[in-house]
Amino acid sequence: MRFYSTNNPDLTVSTKEALFHSMPADKGLYMPIPLPRLGAHFFETIAGQSLADIGFEISKALFSEEISKSDLEELTHRAFPFDTPVVNLEAGRTSVLELFHGPSLAFKDVGARYMAALMSYYSKKSDQEINILVATSGDTGGAVAMGFHNVPGVRVSILYPSGRVSDLQEKQLTTLGGNVQAFEVDGSFDDCQAIVKQAFTDSELTTHLSLSSANSINIFRLIPQGFYYVRAYGQVRHIGKPVVFSTPSGNFGNLSAGAMVQQMGLPVAHFVAATNLNHVVPSYLKTGIYSPAASVATISNAMDVGSPSNFVRLAHLYRDDYETFNANVSGYFFDDTETRAGMLKIYEQFGYVACPHTAIGILGLQSYLADSNKDVVGVALATAHPSKFKPLVEEVLNQSIDVPERLAVMANLTKQSIHIPAQYEVFKELLLQTVS
Ligand SMILES: *Cc1c(COP(=O)(O)O)cnc(C)c1O
Repeated sequence: MRFYSTNNPDLTVSTKEALFHSMPADKGLYMPIPLPRLGAHFFETIAGQSLADIGFEISKALFSEEISKSDLEELTHRAFPFDTPVVNLEAGRTSVLELFHGPSLAFKDVGARYMAALMSYYSKKSDQEINILVATSGDTGGAVAMGFHNVPGVRVSILYPSGRVSDLQEKQLTTLGGNVQAFEVDGSFDDCQAIVKQAFTDSELTTHLSLSSANSINIFRLIPQGFYYVRAYGQVRHIGKPVVFSTPSGNFGNLSAGAMVQQMGLPVAHFVAATNLNHVVPSYLKTGIYSPAASVATISNAMDVGSPSNFVRLAHLYRDDYETFNANVSGYFFDDTETRAGMLKIYEQFGYVACPHTAIGILGLQSYLADSNKDVVGVALATAHPSKFKPLVEEVLNQSIDVPERLAVMANLTKQSIHIPAQYEVFKELLLQTVS
């Protein structure tokens, strides 16, 4: 498999290069070429296959030239010891695809764990230790930390803004120990990101250490997200109706993954791009004008993105053609009042407890079904477990909700972090000490 840059389709690099250096020098984004077509037979016979089975089949189609079948089988099964079940809300019409059964209870586990498994495959073949640096505002850090925990040959340094992540999110970052080191920065998420960016351009560091990023720009976080759209199709295909997916979106990695697997042959009738007040993409779909803006804070904060980094990928997949894009994707957005009302209504109507992001996905689906009046089966992606947003969910539903054991135990663990000022030199000194 080769990867081209969206800024220059003539420039292609290897799988390993795109994996370890997330971004091309021309600041475009990597995209796989050519995208293999999975035959109709594959989609007709997947009903009983797990997420890991499907991941293995698609990985073979993508990477069998550079990685052996047995290695691919081992790494996909190691990455996905959990499934992504479809839960029915309204028979034959509305379902949710639960993506939160992994260790950090959000869909980001899927991308982070597959990327970690691929990196460890390559790192085993070299004696140089790999250093992953990642800045996080919450969910990404937990998925990356857990995905890389105990992976041989890899060290992870996570920078997060002190006092600006939730208690449970902080526990996910700071209690693993071993090869995962958390840096608690006196500053904002932007300060953390600036420190990480400076590290990548510091030749003194990069000559000593093999540095890699685990940010969502990396195409290897997106590729595995296509697997669960296929897994969902396997679970609703028997209904015998066209399938529509509704994806609650921020940076639009999740929806890009869906569009990518659609081009590999998955029969998707339509996508719904559901957002909060950060609605650049729904607005683009309505007007044809794309105008990124500063982000607005909402209760579905993992989707507070004003300038989604994967929009370029999504547009590229639809041939940079507004008509094609519009024929495949509809956009809907909801403010906080509508989101709260939606969470309550979903609970009252279906007995289903949705986190605010998931609620936006379900609301988007319901709006599309009402507007289009088509006889389809709709699948809304449930991106996080509601207990990750416990205080909000309990307030809106006016009742207490359960916290899964694996999250609850974290509350009792002791935080271990290195507290630093938002100064690059301080971080650099400590990084060199901790890795040497
Ligand atoms: C990251 C995140 C999203 C947004 O996903 P994108 O791929 O950035 O569009 C939605 N919901 C939750 C819970 C998230 O953590």
